[in-house]
Amino acid sequence: MTRPTFRRILLKLSGEVLMGSGQFGIDPDTVDRIAEEIVAIHGDGYELCIVVGGGNIFRGLAGAAKGIERATGDYMGMLATVMNALAVQSALERRGVATRVQSAIPMASVCEPFIRRRAERHLEKGRVVIFAAGVGSPYFTTDSGAALRAAEMKCDALFKGTSVDGVYDADPKKVPGAKRYEEIDFSTVLSNDLKIMDASAIALCRDNNIPIVVFNIREQGNLARVLAGEGIATIVRNGE
Ligand code: UDP
Repeated sequence: MTRPTFRRILLKLSGEVLMGSGQFGIDPDTVDRIAEEIVAIHGDGYELCIVVGGGNIFRGLAGAAKGIERATGDYMGMLATVMNALAVQSALERRGVATRVQSAIPMASVCEPFIRRRAERHLEKGRVVIFAAGVGSPYFTTDSGAALRAAEMKCDALFKGTSVDGVYDADPKKVPGAKRYEEIDFSTVLSNDLKIMDASAIALCRDNNIPIVVFNIREQGNLARVLAGEGIATIVRNGE
């Protein structure tokens, strides 16, 4: 099957891909490798928005399990995404690509606040815009942040770079013989409760007709292949 190709994309990087083979935190070699791949696709002329997660550093739910108030833990998680955004920014700029970080939680001495029209201008000028702090509110995830920014920035698609190579009918790490979908529609993902992203992120993409491409970013060279409509991935979109 040939997948459609896109011009302006939103790349969602989960925090866990930034920790490489480690169990926690930021692995500079992995960030460099991913930055290298992002630079390559930027050079191919794509307009690039990036949303980074924070799960490699802190998750509100994990904090809540240990007694930190949920909303407070979520703010800590959002701050973690800012650290990841700065790490990705630094790796991209070392390779000569102009970037801006925009945070949903204003942090004037560290990065820009999120201003949609300003982000639009950055993209027009060929800069990569990295969105941090998710939607800026607790009880959300950076997947919802990615869906929201993809809609606001009128991205053609949301590319979710993760540790699995697509969407399966069961957890491939637990169920031998689990089947990978080449393509699946939003309503099936929601009704079968397939765990790709949280339901609010899926619903936002469905309602705004933004396809989600789920692919393994840990595999070298996969980002460019998947963007070109090749490589292994699952595309989630509205049915015909
Ligand atoms: N978070 C939040 N609101 C948002 C985005 C993130 O409260 O809009 C918090 C939440 O606690 C989450 C953490 O930040 O667990 C890290 O984000 P996420 O789990 O989405 O990161 P990823 O799984 O992509 O690494």
